[in-house]
Amino acid sequence: MLYSEQKHFDEIIAYLEKDNNVFIVGCDGCAQSSGSGGPKQVEEMKQKLAAAGKNVTGTKVVGFLCSKALVKSGLRGKVDQVQAADAVLVLTCGDGIQAVAASINKPVYPGCNTINLGGSRAEWEGSERCFECGQCLLWHTGGICPLTACTKSLVSGACGGAKNGKCEISQDRDCGWELIYNRLKERGLLSRLNDMMKPLDHRKLMVRPEMMSTPRFALENFPKPPPPPPAADASKEVKAK
Ligand code: SF4
Ligand code: SF4
Repeated sequence: MLYSEQKHFDEIIAYLEKDNNVFIVGCDGCAQSSGSGGPKQVEEMKQKLAAAGKNVTGTKVVGFLCSKALVKSGLRGKVDQVQAADAVLVLTCGDGIQAVAASINKPVYPGCNTINLGGSRAEWEGSERCFECGQCLLWHTGGICPLTACTKSLVSGACGGAKNGKCEISQDRDCGWELIYNRLKERGLLSRLNDMMKPLDHRKLMVRPEMMSTPRFALENFPKPPPPPPAADASKEVKAK
């Protein structure tokens, strides 16, 4: 599971500065158990945004936002409310926010930071990946993680080495920053590239000492059983005899 904490409200409201109509999405999986994005936190966020003068066009809590199939089916009955929104605020882990951003054609903003538990994975297998950086940057990158999509984990733009959309490190990989550029262009958000990005706070990439004594950390880092010994090659045994 991925553990997340809600961002400070001032940070969230700053992303939404130009967006009056907001749809909120929460997750009934890890975010619910983290206390960052379940039904209770979605309702609280709705009230806070309304108090800050925003029009909340609707809300939805989906079972697991890390599955794009569940995101799409969960939002099926909310299409009009999502369409009426200028932006969608997602209260969950980095994988879930990326899955929502890949599933709907709207600006998507992270309401949470994913906290390092030493290499956790989302509950559902998907192509999205999160490094648990503790300072989610998806508001700046159109909902594509620069730490996992870019081979060098660059957070403030492309290195300039890409050729034909492929990374200079490996022609087998798409350039993450070209993916980010294309996503921002498609959504009319290229001005996001003018944002002045703070350097990454690498302290937040470490597991916090207090997290190491939590059941969550123990579950994620429980020693894996050793792999079974290789099966004996029966044909070789016969020849040896
Ligand atoms: S920016 Fe990437 S690594 Fe950091 S929390 Fe968001 S998805 Fe995870
Ligand atoms: S070519 Fe693109 S993905 Fe590769 S390191 Fe440079 S910016 Fe990152």
